[in-house]
Amino acid sequence: MGVLETEKELSVYESMAARFDVAAQKLGLDEGLKKYLRTPNREIIVHIPVLMDNGHLEVFDGYRVQHSIARGPCKGGLRYSPHVTLDEIRGLAAEMTWKCAVANIPFGGAKGGIVCDPAKLSLGELEKITRRYTAEILDYIGPERDVPAPDMNTNEQVMAWIMDTYSMHVRHTVTAIVTGKPLDLGGSRGRKEATGRGCMIATDQALKRFGWKRESTRVIIQGFGNVGSQAARLMHEAGYKIIGIADILGGIINPHGLEIPKLLEHFQEHKTVKGYPGGAPIGCQDILEQDCEVLLPAATESVINSKNANKIKARILTEGANSPTTPPADDILFERGVFVIPDILANAGGVTVSYFEWVQDRQGYFWPEGMVNERLKHIMVSAFNDVVRYGEKHNVNNRIAAYMLAIDRVAFTIKLRGIYA
Ligand code: NAD
Repeated sequence: MGVLETEKELSVYESMAARFDVAAQKLGLDEGLKKYLRTPNREIIVHIPVLMDNGHLEVFDGYRVQHSIARGPCKGGLRYSPHVTLDEIRGLAAEMTWKCAVANIPFGGAKGGIVCDPAKLSLGELEKITRRYTAEILDYIGPERDVPAPDMNTNEQVMAWIMDTYSMHVRHTVTAIVTGKPLDLGGSRGRKEATGRGCMIATDQALKRFGWKRESTRVIIQGFGNVGSQAARLMHEAGYKIIGIADILGGIINPHGLEIPKLLEHFQEHKTVKGYPGGAPIGCQDILEQDCEVLLPAATESVINSKNANKIKARILTEGANSPTTPPADDILFERGVFVIPDILANAGGVTVSYFEWVQDRQGYFWPEGMVNERLKHIMVSAFNDVVRYGEKHNVNNRIAAYMLAIDRVAFTIKLRGIYA
């Protein structure tokens, strides 16, 4: 079996489990604990009946997987897509446990999904799906149990509906039931920029190690959604030279640097970076192989695989997206000396500010944006240093180091708590 065939066959859960197994073995984790940590605590499957606008009754499948509550309430996004599977949600839930542990915030991991195509649903139908899904899983979520957040195709509005449905059932307003809410409903300042800002902070730390200056560091970003556009804006403002950006429709490259504010204006109008006059056109996959110091994938999974890992020219890979690199590509990048800032570290800024949102909601006291950003920086820098030092101590790459550190932290709390029987 060729490497590519193996890659194709690895599901989201299997990719997570492959990395988990390597890290657990290096940690010398007890077999029983290994089995426990590889398996989610709870998997909920619901079937959601919805009276559609045309009068027909439709039934949608929904999932919520709670991987671990060892370190605190579960935390994780809710995605809407026709392609959602239980396996994918199971893998992503575990990744959330590891991400929260790397950031050292007091949450476990969860993920949810509903099999539906939002592009084909009216706003009213989306609201009904969201409210009924919330009602179905109501007994298993809550500020102390499991706190959903936006993910693929869900947004502030979906979070507001979840918050309202939960609040109606418990008869009082509970803002801390979800994060990623509108500011007026208990959202946090700085949440929108948090993942992109976290990517920049992690990249800054890598630059320090290389002794590089932002001004002479060329950056290429794949994806211009929430993460990619905010990273581009903030990194441009901070002095980085952003030379290439692509979204799913195409990209642009300019070795002298792109004028990001103008590009943002172009994007506002055309909903794509494609066609921006300040650079040469380039394909969304080709852009990954261009000459630069920092490559920041912020689009989707498995874009760096055994087919192109040999062609990556960047010295630093900041994984804004979740799982942009396949396990076989990891090995190739490591051999080639690419400094990888793994997803569970690089994009942890999002869940970190979600944690701040949850804290602020529970306190009923809201922080100024400067305080959010300062505290985010503190957590990201500590997490970066923890992972890199762990890797150096155990002679493993940053990805395995992040997994080892996370598993070690979760296993430690489980040992302290003991197994309830
Ligand atoms: P988004 O939907 O806002 O944007 C996605 C962007 O990627 C769009 O510009 C889209 O055109 C582009 N894209 C999609 N497929 C592509 C492809 N094959 N090639 C090139 N471009 C492509 O999503 P987002 O919220 O910015 O999330 C991006 C990634 O970051 C995802 O993997 C997500 O799971 C991860 N992530 C997001 C957050 C967050 O706070 N939003 C936090 C952690 C991780």
